[in-house]
Amino acid sequence: MSTTMSPERRRVVAQAPGKINLSLHVGAVDHRGYHALATVFQAVDLMETVTAQAADDLHLTVTSHVDGDVPTDGTNLALRAARLLQQEHRITAGAALHIDKTVPVAGGMGGGSADAAAALVALNRLWELDLEPAALRELGGRLGADVPFALTGHTALGRGNGDDLSPLLVTGEWHWVLAVPGGHLSTPEVYRTHDELVRQAGREPAAVPEPDDRQVQALRSADVALLGETLHNDLQAAAFHLRPGLAPVCELAEGSGAYGALVSGSGPTIAVLAGDADHAAQLAALLRAEGVAQQCLTTTGSAPGARVISEE
Ligand code: ATP
Repeated sequence: MSTTMSPERRRVVAQAPGKINLSLHVGAVDHRGYHALATVFQAVDLMETVTAQAADDLHLTVTSHVDGDVPTDGTNLALRAARLLQQEHRITAGAALHIDKTVPVAGGMGGGSADAAAALVALNRLWELDLEPAALRELGGRLGADVPFALTGHTALGRGNGDDLSPLLVTGEWHWVLAVPGGHLSTPEVYRTHDELVRQAGREPAAVPEPDDRQVQALRSADVALLGETLHNDLQAAAFHLRPGLAPVCELAEGSGAYGALVSGSGPTIAVLAGDADHAAQLAALLRAEGVAQQCLTTTGSAPGARVISEE
């Protein structure tokens, strides 16, 4: 069967951002088996682009500008988002989905979640469902804890398993270098290692972890030095344990004039805070010259959440 589209087939293009976690406080495991979190997400302008074109059935293609394997079968989060919408709203139409990928794969930057978020908003428009943002966030939360944030974007505090979001007031633009060390870290394995390290240390995790008020204040007052001081990730020790090469990257960045550096989410991407665009470019050049990462990208936050950018 030919897959050629007739020219009148509608096409919607949506984008959604990757994220970094400026802080990640990990508490106890709740009754559903999830860790209670208090995390500050910031969306960055590394965008995933999802094109949805009217078609008789569902299929997916991927173009990637980053290393790493992206599944194109039914496990891909964009396809899972499409199936969920079809089931929930009894949609019989299909769609040809295409992902154009710029967020590092399995890097702790929520690229798969961004694909799911972009697919939800693109298909909401293509299939004329008119779902409100809250309904999309609810569906997104069923696909993954980071999907609601990819829909919302900007900077937000995430509680629960990260999907209970409150927007945070942010002044100005924040400049980051993302050191992508290559390879990936499995999120469940990082959490398991974290639990083991906490147990060995005899620490009692908080039932309801709290964010750092100073971080909220730093974001509001554009205080880059204070934001640098408050960057914090409870999973970092576990990520360093599993990938001993990561700690020296943070140390090098911090010893070279960065305001701070931390593992993003479950890693292994390291987010390095710079003062402005020139400073970020200098830090990226230095990290590249030292050969500590496979790729060093510069980016800024906050970026908007998933949105339709064109339709025809
Ligand atoms: P996490 O949300 O677990 O922190 P991450 O940001 O570290 O994820 P992703 O790039 O979202 O990493 O991918 C994690 C895994 O999810 C991949 O290894 C891949 O097998 C699977 N996956 C499913 N859909 C996608 C997608 N659209 N893009 C990338 N990976 C996907």
